[in-house]
Amino acid sequence: MSLALQADHDLSRANTLGLPCRAEHFAAPTTTAELREALALARREAWPLTVLGGGSNLILPARLAGLVLRPAMDAWWLEAGEGDGVRVHAEAAVVWHDLVMALAGRGLWGTENLALIPGHCGAAPIQNIGAYGVELGEVLEAVHLVHLEDGREAVLSADDCALGYRDSIFKGALDGRVVITRLVMRLSRSPRPRLGYGDLAARVGVAPSALEVAEAVCAIRREKLPDPALLGNAGSFFKNPLVAGEQAARLLAASPDMPHFPQPDGRVKLAAGWLIDRCGLRGWREEHFGVHDRQALVLVHFGGGSAEELLGFAGRVADRVRERFGVELEREPRLAGERP
Ligand SMILES: Cc1cc2nc3c(=O)[nH]c(=O)nc-3n(C[C@H](O)[C@H](O)[C@H](O)COP(=O)(O)OP(=O)(O)OC[C@H]3O[C@@H](n4cnc5c(N)ncnc54)[C@H](O)[C@@H]3O)c2cc1C
Repeated sequence: MSLALQADHDLSRANTLGLPCRAEHFAAPTTTAELREALALARREAWPLTVLGGGSNLILPARLAGLVLRPAMDAWWLEAGEGDGVRVHAEAAVVWHDLVMALAGRGLWGTENLALIPGHCGAAPIQNIGAYGVELGEVLEAVHLVHLEDGREAVLSADDCALGYRDSIFKGALDGRVVITRLVMRLSRSPRPRLGYGDLAARVGVAPSALEVAEAVCAIRREKLPDPALLGNAGSFFKNPLVAGEQAARLLAASPDMPHFPQPDGRVKLAAGWLIDRCGLRGWREEHFGVHDRQALVLVHFGGGSAEELLGFAGRVADRVRERFGVELEREPRLAGERP
């Protein structure tokens, strides 16, 4: 067997929350063949399997039984597309932000608003990453994957991926059933600035380059979000809740300044961070965990805490929002080892 397998592997540095975690077995396959070898081994041994990318959207328990697989295939390349289009192929372990900056630097448009989102390309379709008015789904063409149950390779079109707000088929019918090995995206050589979100337009010149937009996005994000290298966090801890139109109208009557975004289906998206803030929880701390003092949507880990304590803390934040506004908050990062 060519695959290197490690026992009792420390994952404390492999998750941006900085939670202590040990994997019973760990492998980082560098080719699809090695990946399929690891999957076959897990099937033979009846090991539960956890797929790990950059660990920026995961809550890790103290111990993960079975095999933790972190794909290590990290090549990317360009292919000429139709018209002004360029096809980008990116393997699972390519660091998303590095790729975005490289593409923007080459004058390719489409992913620049998604700069500085942590994590690897393989995880990007799982929750259809989005920021500054753009989602991955707008550029995604196809996803290459391997099925866990039999090692079968397949390619899904973007339509097959059923992408939605922080959602995809990988959180539904294919949850825990595939490893994504490669993304194919379609970018454009023609300028397509998307500056309508927040104060992005004010941060760039009249006809900005893709790189200028990406750098402006990075600057804004650095001002607002804690750097996981300095303070453990998993980005937004809650999804922005979608509520019925009538409920939104009632809430707006009581709080006319509440940010609200009407959706095509009649529901209204609310800003989870604003709701938490209005409960007076920004900067609130309980032992090892807290609500970030600049961005209430981000829960932070000061060190020494566990996944269980974090979930308890998050539950208390959600309780306060439910009591005050009658709105349910749903957790965004996934709990590793939680079976679908
Ligand atoms: C500071 C900060 C800011 C953030 N900002 C944003 C933002 O603006 N927008 C946004 O959408 N997200 C944001 N996130 C969340 C996170 O960066 C994204 O969800 C990212 O795509 C996660 O990538 P990852 O490689 O770290 O995935 P991980 O956390 O390692 O895994 C996430 C999920 O994907 C699965 N997975 C990982 N790789 C694969 C694979 N190859 N095949 C199959 N399943 C896989 C895992 O099993 C897990 O269920 C932020 C996070 C942080 C810490």
